[in-house]
Amino acid sequence: EPIVAFRDVSVTYPNGHQALKSVSLSFVPGEFIAVVGLSGAGKSTLIRCINRLVTPTSGSLMVNGVELVGLDDAGLRRVRSRVGMIFQNYNLVRRKSVLKNVLDGRLAHLPTWKTLLGLYPKEDIALAKASLARVGISEKEGVRADQLSGGQQQRVAIARALSQQPTILLADEPVASLDPPTAHQVMRDLRDLAREENLLTLVNLHFIDMAQEYADRVIGLRAGELVYDGPARGMQEAD
Ligand code: ADP
Ligand code: ADP
Repeated sequence: EPIVAFRDVSVTYPNGHQALKSVSLSFVPGEFIAVVGLSGAGKSTLIRCINRLVTPTSGSLMVNGVELVGLDDAGLRRVRSRVGMIFQNYNLVRRKSVLKNVLDGRLAHLPTWKTLLGLYPKEDIALAKASLARVGISEKEGVRADQLSGGQQQRVAIARALSQQPTILLADEPVASLDPPTAHQVMRDLRDLAREENLLTLVNLHFIDMAQEYADRVIGLRAGELVYDGPARGMQEAD
């Protein structure tokens, strides 16, 4: 049973650029997917459809059993609350502590007045701490985010996503700013999390070697079209 299903999804940006062309694809829980293609191929556009940061212009997109095309704001908030996302540049609040950054992952689950007052329920604090432990960075919980290395910041970003108790994790070029050993460590962590937490994970990657080393399945895009969908090993013949 897929938890994400694209059917003939196209995206045309307001300037007329068609970034996705009738893409059909589905994913099941726990799959670890690499999305590869040249810069501009549509990788970010594809993954951003899943939390509706980008809205499909046509087609159908089911996420966790809900049709995203035409969904109202309340429905959208519910879907987004279970989709975690991490970015190339971590997107942490630099002057906040690590723990506060991870608690931000709970924002979607709380009424605004509580978050404005910094009133986090005990369970949320426990969940944030457990997420930090899950990525092996508990000892940094009181440190300001901007005091950490890039690899540590990406771990905090992963913990923030995990504190949402997501069923889906989207990672947009998550290792592009990291040195190679750290990049490999983060890829291993993401792969292990996908397996152990049954978390569908989509990772956009510039480099095919990373995809071949870690992904169960590779999606190849070229100029907005799906040109490959299969095991990493089959990539060479398919170009
Ligand atoms: P990738 O992640 O593979 O680099 P993107 O999905 O970011 O590709 O972009 C696909 C294409 O759509 C590119 O040509 C890009 O310039 C264009 N694009 C991306 N976002 C927008 C936007 N908001 N408005 C117009 N064009 C966009
Ligand atoms: P990346 O290559 O990491 O996806 P980009 O530099 O392509 O980053 O895009 C950065 C931001 O600008 C994104 O929010 C993207 O949607 C937007 N963008 C990209 N291309 C265009 C474009 N041609 N017109 C308008 N916005 C764009």
